[in-house]
Amino acid sequence: MMVLPLVLNGQQCRFVVVGGGTVATRKVQTLVKAGVTVAVISPQVSGEIQQFADAGQISLALRPAQQETYCFDDWVVLATDNTEVNATQAALAKAAGAKVCRCDITIDNDFSFPAVVDRSPLTIAISTSGATPALTRYVRQRIEAFIPDDYRQLGQWMETLRVRIKSTLPASERGPFWRRWMHSQAPEQILARRPDNAERITQALLSGNDESTGEVYLVGAGPGDPDLLTFRALRLIQMADVVFYDRLVGPRIMDLVPEDAEKHYVGKAKSQHAVPQDDINRLLVTEAKKGKRVLRLKGGDPFIFGRGGEEIAELAATDIPFQVVPGITAASGCAAYAGIPLTHRDHAQSVRFVTGHMKDGSCDLPWQELVHPSQTLVIYMGLTGLASICSQLIAHGMPETTPIALVEKGTLPEQMVHTGTLATMPAIVAGREISAPTLTIVGSVVSLHEQLRWR
Ligand code: SAH
Repeated sequence: MMVLPLVLNGQQCRFVVVGGGTVATRKVQTLVKAGVTVAVISPQVSGEIQQFADAGQISLALRPAQQETYCFDDWVVLATDNTEVNATQAALAKAAGAKVCRCDITIDNDFSFPAVVDRSPLTIAISTSGATPALTRYVRQRIEAFIPDDYRQLGQWMETLRVRIKSTLPASERGPFWRRWMHSQAPEQILARRPDNAERITQALLSGNDESTGEVYLVGAGPGDPDLLTFRALRLIQMADVVFYDRLVGPRIMDLVPEDAEKHYVGKAKSQHAVPQDDINRLLVTEAKKGKRVLRLKGGDPFIFGRGGEEIAELAATDIPFQVVPGITAASGCAAYAGIPLTHRDHAQSVRFVTGHMKDGSCDLPWQELVHPSQTLVIYMGLTGLASICSQLIAHGMPETTPIALVEKGTLPEQMVHTGTLATMPAIVAGREISAPTLTIVGSVVSLHEQLRWR
């Protein structure tokens, strides 16, 4: 982070604005709105600034800035269109120990003005520290569209409710309460100006009469890029009280989990499960029985080589409600991000997903079925067995020249695509540092990678 965003309670601060043109006017408007003390120095000022002065909202010195005396606790905004004036005043202000914001340059500023979306009490500030105002404006417009003005009502309602919650619920129950409340119909009812309905829902949640007993969400987190989560996955991730996640779920996705949710790593590094599968199945049941919203977050799709079926079998047997959210499986994610269509009218009419997991030093796969001219083969968990997979496919009749791709860390910023043929791939892989996870794609569709790669 290049800057430290803070929210300033400016009631006690004095801002000195040097300048009276468009830029200065915008700053003065912001400052007056925030209710801080403002002094403007400028030989000429805009109509708006003059009006503020006439209304007694700011003090105005209608003269050029000269040898000004700044105080240690002043916040000085230099907004003239004269670089020299700005520089001289900046030097004077800095010498006095005041905090300085020059509007004509972005380096060396002690503070800057973010773009603001004002839905008080909700205030959203957006900043690129002056690096690119165009991006700031763009993001602000997007947020403006997403957060309608009615959020003011919502904010005010929640502010009042917060006081009530503080006196009714112990601290440990407040986080879960707010998550349930935010995901109940209550906020929507306030936005729809039906506060009575919101109150009824709130009462039900407080008295435990809502139907939200514990539930388990078995959610596919996709292959790694958080942008590939489904809307539903994101919604459930944000509602979790407790999370069990494994190795394939990266930090960028874990950042989306509520800060105060309990997070448990249950491993699944190849062959050494941090927590045995049976224990995971049981933990989901135990936590849900406590009334919690339990998120079981898995890489890719939970029903593709993810043992998702086993994890929910126990839930089904104990009548605990659960939902399963599909994720983008590694095959789809890696294929798309590598520009390798898994099927293609000229190359492959079918695709087959298999796992190349090693058992007793070799892969136990139905080789004969895998050797098919117009079929793409996708092999999960196959890096260690790659050489043996290539030689078995050749031994069972697949041409040595069949193209093969190894997608390393698919969809992540570090993604690498290694290509070769069944004959050359083992040597290629042996000569490179390759890190998990990797996915192997075999078949003539791989030849399209050169033409269709887009990342
Ligand atoms: N349920 C998951 C698969 C779990 S098995 C899914 O649907 O994707 C784990 C294997 O998936 C890894 O060994 C690797 O072969 C593959 N995999 C998962 N994420 C991957 C990624 N980002 N890049 C390459 N392969 C990946």
